Amino acid sequence: MVDTSSFAGATLTIDLGAIKRNYRRLTEMAAPAETGVVVKANAYGCGISDVVPALAEAGAQTFFTALLDEAIAARTALTAWPNARVFVLNGYQPGAASVMASHDIAPVLGSLSEIAAWLADGAQGAPALHVDTGMSRLGLETGDLGSDLIDRLMTQSPPAYLMTHMACADTPDHPKTFEQLVAFAALRKRLPNLPTTLANSAATIAGLAKDTDLARPGIALYGGRAVNDGPNPMEPVVRIDARVLQTRTVKQGETVGYGAIWKAPRDSRVAIVAVGYADGYLRAGSGGHGRPTGFAAIKHTRVPLVGRVSMDLIALDVTDFAPEDAAPGKTVELLGSHVTVDDVADAAGTIGYEVLTNLGKRYERIVIDTEKDT
Ligand SMILES: *Cc1c(COP(=O)(O)O)cnc(C)c1O
Repeated sequence: MVDTSSFAGATLTIDLGAIKRNYRRLTEMAAPAETGVVVKANAYGCGISDVVPALAEAGAQTFFTALLDEAIAARTALTAWPNARVFVLNGYQPGAASVMASHDIAPVLGSLSEIAAWLADGAQGAPALHVDTGMSRLGLETGDLGSDLIDRLMTQSPPAYLMTHMACADTPDHPKTFEQLVAFAALRKRLPNLPTTLANSAATIAGLAKDTDLARPGIALYGGRAVNDGPNPMEPVVRIDARVLQTRTVKQGETVGYGAIWKAPRDSRVAIVAVGYADGYLRAGSGGHGRPTGFAAIKHTRVPLVGRVSMDLIALDVTDFAPEDAAPGKTVELLGSHVTVDDVADAAGTIGYEVLTNLGKRYERIVIDTEKDT
């Protein structure tokens, strides 16, 4: 088959070196706790088979996925690191034990029925035990701790970690965070002394991993904003460069795109670029509804989106750029150092997590490592 990837509308570049540097920054924030890594959802869209070995090279030893399939993919990528631990956050499904044992994967147990099924299925390996402290999503409730299933778990399959998950760590000084820490300390007292893990990226950046044994950052590894206020201390990881297909003149008063939502306020030049919502470039990023309009960058300068994002195309107002900078065949930056994942998310009324995990399959995918390549 002919390789047509170089004719793709856009390239998606993942920098493994940036992921490794972000990992090391997080280890500094988490120390003396170990820094585990969350690689669910295809490593937040960055590619689990590339990202996992890079993180292992940087020193990560504990990996979390949401699903069993993802955990198997992580384990496969860890062939050179047989001592790494892999956990499935979404819990234990009856019948999964033999597949998990054969891949050396452990569940994060989050309810009494999961514990019962895990014990009934042989309970090979050390799981993690998830307790709810206010997220009300997964995890045991306080009332569950009196169950004799807990005692049986402690003797037959002692957990490697006692885990909880923070609901509001992205908002500094949110009272819920303090309440959850208090609740977690109380739950700990009722259980044998297990190592602990509670901090996602935001909580790690807030310094909350330090008093635990293991941090569990995800989004910050991939350059996304974990804490709502203040500067993002992480380096961007993902870059999208999209091709200009045409540049056209739009007379004052004419409109661009579906719904005719953008009317040229002056005689304008508009570049049509080969990315759309089918690439995961969210249609909600068309702006309006009180949100900032999305933008791209040409030569370090922002260039606004005009009109609606359509399936395969977007339009940019390039009137203020030299014609040769936005000519057909040139590329514009849609994500990178001048347009962050969170800029794109803000325009779409969402979060960087959703932008990353939606990155589509039509890109020409390029994986680089700025720590190795010269
Ligand atoms: C996704 C997830 C994380 C990582 O969260 P980030 O905000 O991406 O750092 C940690 N723990 C659990 C239980 C999760 O589901």
